[in-house]
Amino acid sequence: MKPSGISSNNIEPRASEIITKLNIPGFDAYLVGGCVRDLLLGKTPKDWDVATSALPEEVVSVFSDNHIIETGIKHGTVTIVSNGLPIEVTTFRVDGNYEDGRRPANVIFVRNIREDLARRDFTINAIAYHPDKGLIDPFGGVTDLNTKTVHAVGDANTRLNEDGLRILRALRFASTLSFEIDSSLASSIHHNKKLLQNISVERIATEMTKLLCGDNVSKILIEYSDIFSVFIPEISDIIGFDQRSPYHLFDAWTHTVLTVAAAPTDPILRLTMLFHDLGKPACFTQDDDEMGHFYGHEDKSAEIANRRLRELRFDNETIDAVCELVRWHDVGLTEKNLIKWLNRLGEPRLRQLFEIKLADAKSHSAENATEKLSELWDREMQLNDILEKEVCFSLKDLSLNGDDLLAAGIPEGAEIGFILQRLLDAVMDGRLPNEKQALLRAAIPAE
Ligand code: ATP
Ligand code: MG
Repeated sequence: MKPSGISSNNIEPRASEIITKLNIPGFDAYLVGGCVRDLLLGKTPKDWDVATSALPEEVVSVFSDNHIIETGIKHGTVTIVSNGLPIEVTTFRVDGNYEDGRRPANVIFVRNIREDLARRDFTINAIAYHPDKGLIDPFGGVTDLNTKTVHAVGDANTRLNEDGLRILRALRFASTLSFEIDSSLASSIHHNKKLLQNISVERIATEMTKLLCGDNVSKILIEYSDIFSVFIPEISDIIGFDQRSPYHLFDAWTHTVLTVAAAPTDPILRLTMLFHDLGKPACFTQDDDEMGHFYGHEDKSAEIANRRLRELRFDNETIDAVCELVRWHDVGLTEKNLIKWLNRLGEPRLRQLFEIKLADAKSHSAENATEKLSELWDREMQLNDILEKEVCFSLKDLSLNGDDLLAAGIPEGAEIGFILQRLLDAVMDGRLPNEKQALLRAAIPAE
């Protein structure tokens, strides 16, 4: 087939070299999977995968002069490190029987690229490319790339039942590439969503993170909310939830989805938006005017985020950041208290808090949004100003330290810390200047 959209200039020379080295002794070798898809879409591939007819031990012997990593050899993958770039070379294979809807019991090596392409999940991921021979596209992947469709290789239902993770992978590609999901795959996804209960949580977390950072995330979250509810059940409680408030045009889930899409494409910020209001139903009250209130929903949402992210085995750094941001997403940042929040959260986290507050504000009713946005922009300017002027907002900025207090005769112990914190609070409030003598006088009042 004529190689449309791929020119040899776009191909990583170290990958072509590996293909050539395998071809010389007579083995077939092709670029496959994500790199071919990305090349055809005019994107720069993140990594380069090669599929070959050579058995793993044959690959090892062809590349005996290279640095080789053999960890994946059981599944047919040998990683060749070529001038510092790791490239995975995997023997053509078909999967053995799927016994539990997640992993094949074994893999069977084959000598034919077409069989290897047939075991891949979606047609757009089942295209091979050879620098001289061009594309091998037995399942119409190029057409699906052109029509922007995620389409299963073969029968959608069978393929999802082999490996339930494909449900989330389909949604991930639709979100990141802004593709539509073919109708039979779409209905199969809804029908088979329970399969995700058997999938390893780490695999779910990886796909979920990529999906959340896609450009088309709002459409996917809305159309497939039932899928996300399988592993974050609190989502089902906010779908269609009427907030009974003039500040909210939308139900709680639609608002949540809008905030996810409005946040920068950073996993922590997008996860924060996903969880930020999940505690609302549990905290819902109505006043005499039937207006809805959600006192304490920030803590409740942070608790949900903590539980679900731990279940999904996200790393501690992500969990701590998301929970802290969810916990404080509704605090009022004022001209007076900004410096205290800077002290409490530190600059990086406070900047993240601005980002999520902006995303949240953009997704409220228009009138309310404009006011909130302009307030936030004022606060950001104020923050820049504080940092530029090197205003004191932490103990390390204070012109007095523990040694000064010891020298002034205050005994060593916890008291020193309390005094310093009291002085810092006074400086941040503007009650004391950040000057050593003034601070000492305040620390040790004259008898
Ligand atoms: P990315 O650009 O995010 O790496 P990718 O398509 O390369 O996307 P990988 O997870 O790296 O995704 O997988 C490489 C290839 O292996 C895929 O393109 C696909 O052909 C195949 N593949 C991966 N996971 C599955 C799966 N669960 N079922 C079937 N085929 C899969
Ligand atoms: Mg890949």
